[in-house]
Formats: sequence, structure tokens, C-alpha cells
Amino acid sequence: MSYRTEEVAYVQPAQPAASAQAAQQQRSTAEYRALDAAHHIHPFSDMGALNRTGSRVIVKAQGVYLWDSDGNKVIDGMAGLWCVNVGYGRKELADAAYRQMMELPYYNTFFKTTHPPVIELSALLAELAPEPFNHFFYCNSGSEGNDTVLRIVHHYWATQGKHSKKFVISRKNGYHGSTIAGGTLGGMGYMHEQMPSKVENIVHIDQPYFFGEAQGNLTPEEFALARAQQLEAKILEIGADNVAAFIGEPFQGAGGVIFPASTYWPEIQRICRKYDILLVADEVIGGFGRTGEWFAHQYFGFEPDLITLAKGLTSGYIPMGAVGLHDRVAKAIIENGDFNHGLTYSGHPVAAAVAVANLKLLRDEKIVERVKTHTGPYFQKKLRDTLGNHPIIGEISGAGLVAGLQLAEDPKTRKRFANGGDVGTICRDFCFNGNLIMRATGDRMLLSPPLVINKLEIDEIVSKAKKAIDATAQQLGIS
Ligand SMILES: *Cc1c(COP(=O)(O)O)cnc(C)c1O
Repeated sequence: MSYRTEEVAYVQPAQPAASAQAAQQQRSTAEYRALDAAHHIHPFSDMGALNRTGSRVIVKAQGVYLWDSDGNKVIDGMAGLWCVNVGYGRKELADAAYRQMMELPYYNTFFKTTHPPVIELSALLAELAPEPFNHFFYCNSGSEGNDTVLRIVHHYWATQGKHSKKFVISRKNGYHGSTIAGGTLGGMGYMHEQMPSKVENIVHIDQPYFFGEAQGNLTPEEFALARAQQLEAKILEIGADNVAAFIGEPFQGAGGVIFPASTYWPEIQRICRKYDILLVADEVIGGFGRTGEWFAHQYFGFEPDLITLAKGLTSGYIPMGAVGLHDRVAKAIIENGDFNHGLTYSGHPVAAAVAVANLKLLRDEKIVERVKTHTGPYFQKKLRDTLGNHPIIGEISGAGLVAGLQLAEDPKTRKRFANGGDVGTICRDFCFNGNLIMRATGDRMLLSPPLVINKLEIDEIVSKAKKAIDATAQQLGIS
């Protein structure tokens, strides 16, 4: 397989034969559903409602396709949950896990020990990340990555003798995971409502969501600048001596693939530098090629002090998260005694071996470059050509292989549907029934396919998305 030139078509690995699938499948769909309903609590779900309709049982995947327990073939427009960057069924990753399990399935890194996979991974990340990122701390998820970020931020300021720097500023409708720290850092009201105890000293400013929140005649650039300047106002309100860090996703993923205008991040960076505040980029979705750059902060042109990594780090084949430290932060942590934080599985050898194999595929098959020069621009253009003037599409945002489609009652006046969440659900259900996985966040439809997707498969996603959006408009009586 090669991605080296566009002329050499990417040949998907052989698809599983129907009989092989049947042999693997132990139970009927009805049995699976009954047992799932009886014993399994799903994340972020209304279990009563779900158990009444039953879950779709996914049994197999290859390339950019999934198969369910009824034999339906579904194209995965979300790369799992924004994570399967190298696509499904890559033997290199399975082999790496198998080899490492036979060689050294587990050892810790707490007590003056280390092991080859975590060493190789750290050296490789240092090579792939921008120049000042040379040190990495490991955990098992993006949420734990952001817990780790908080621990590093507070320890950093303690080493600088600035003990009053405790506040962390984040954004409404940001997503930073679902541990207590991740959930508090995130700005999802529906999560906060179920979290009576939160991490202290975390406050939120408004998001740079132009379509939904810009008033009057502001241009996207003016609006983004104004939203960035809320950070300065918040710092002045709290007092710069009390503010430790600002955290944001370079583009908001779960919040709806919200891409700030080009004025946003340079202003955020200026403000963080001016008031001596650490700048944290949550790269859990943006990292490892999603925008066509290795990291999304490179796409937006700023330099964070800490980066949170997960998802694409292992392409979701095995759980792993990490935090990358800018040299100036790493130096302070390294030169100031014990850092009292760690997880049993920090730098887990099997996860690290899979991450190394995954990153080598992304690098050596030039998958990230391909997103930047070929498939990314093709995907963005195809979406805009096909849906840019659709009567219920108000905005298409994104870059590389990630996009947000804003559903709107009147695209010209940026009028949103009064019942936007319901409209999103209608559209999502049409996609699901049309064998396309496209996610809905309120009234925005989200796409984030595996980075190995080819142009034919992009055409399939966009045409299935159009069918679902047409059907949604028709159901609403709009044409
Ligand atoms: C998914 C996500 C997280 C949380 O990662 P988990 O592995 O689910 O804990 C954190 N930040 C961002 C931006 C994410 O998209």
C-alpha cells in the first residue's frame, strides 16, 4: 500500500467475506440487543430510551467501513470517535501489540525503571512535534491528559514561587473530557448540571462561534478578535497574579467543529504572553493530522506551552493519552524535585508500541501530507460545491478532513431552527439509515473520517450526507 503519489490509488485491504463474518458472530442481533440492554450502561446516553429501540451492533471494520450484525456496510464519517486516523484493520498495529505483549506486556515507570516502547515513543513524538516540544508524560485518555495538564500547570507555578496563580480560564462549549477535571474544564452545561462537585478555580469565557453568536454587522475576524479579548477582560477581573493558564481546543470538536477566524489565536497568544499565563492547546482531536498539519495549533499558527494528546495517538486501537511539555515548562518540572502524579499505566508498553507503529504509518505512508495536499482540499471543496448553497445549510466550517455543517432555517440571515437539536437528530437518523455515520451536535452535523480515506470514498460520504440533508429539509417542508 502506498500513499506516496495521488496516481497510485490507495488499495483498501481485502474486505471480510460475509461467511467469515458470520463465523465470528456468536449471537443474533436480537440476542446481542437484549443482553446489551440487560447489562450495559452506555456513555452519554438515555438508557431507557436506548433500550426500547436497541443499539446497532458493530461487529467488524476495514479501511473506512464498518459492518453491523445484520451485515449492513456503513461508511464511517467520524473515524470512530474522531480517533481512527489510520483507518481500520491495519495489521502493523495488531502485530506491534502482539509482539509487545509476548515480550513485555507490562512494567511500570514509577520507580527508576523504563522500557524500550516508551523510550521510542517519546523520541518519536519529539521528532514529530514542533521544535520546543521534547518531553512527554503519559496517561490513558484525553480526560486524564487534561487532569495531568492541571497538575503540571499548578506545579509549574509553584516552582516559580507564584503560588497565587491558581485560576484556569476555559471556554463555554469547549470539550476537555469527562473526568471531574475534564468535565469542569469543558464548558458543557448539561454535564455541569450533573456535577455538583467541580474542580475549584476554573472559569469560562464565551466561544468564538460566529454563526451562532455574532451580533450586528461584525465580520468573522472582528467577532473572533472580540471573543479573544474576553480573555484579557477575564484576566483583569481575576487579577493576572491569580491566573495560571488558558486552555482551548484549536478548533472545537465535540462543540460542533467550530473554526475561529484567523484573528483569534494570535490574539489569545498575545494576551497569554502579556500576562504571563500558560497557554494549553487541547490537541486530542486536532493532533496527528486532522487539519493536514501534524498538530492543529500549527494550522492556526500559535505556540502553546502544553499540548494534550490522545485519540489519533494510537488511532484508537488501544487507549493512550499524553501531555507534551514545551521546553520552558519541562525544564521547571525536571529541575524542581518530585512531581507527585502518575498512573499505573503511564507509558504502558503495549499502548506505546501501538502508538509507535501508528505514528510510523502516519509518517512513512505520508498520510498527513496527503490530507494537506490531496484529500483534505478535495473533501472541503466537494462539501462546499455540493452543499454550499443548500437551503438548510448555513455554514460549512473546517479544514483537512474535519468539517461542521450548520443546519439553519434561513442561511442568509443566519437564522437557526428554533428546535435545532431535533433537526440535528432527524438528520443524524437519516444518515444512520442511509449507512453513513455522521454525528449531530445540536444543529451542527459533524464529519471527521479516517485520514486514509480516498476520493471515491469522500464522494460517497458527501453524496450520502446530501441525501440525508435533503430528506431532512423535505421532512421540515423546506425546499
Ligand atoms: C475526546 C476529547 C477529550 C477526552 O478524551 P477521552 O479519551 O474521551 O477522555 C478531551 N479533549 C478533547 C478535545 C476531546 O475531543
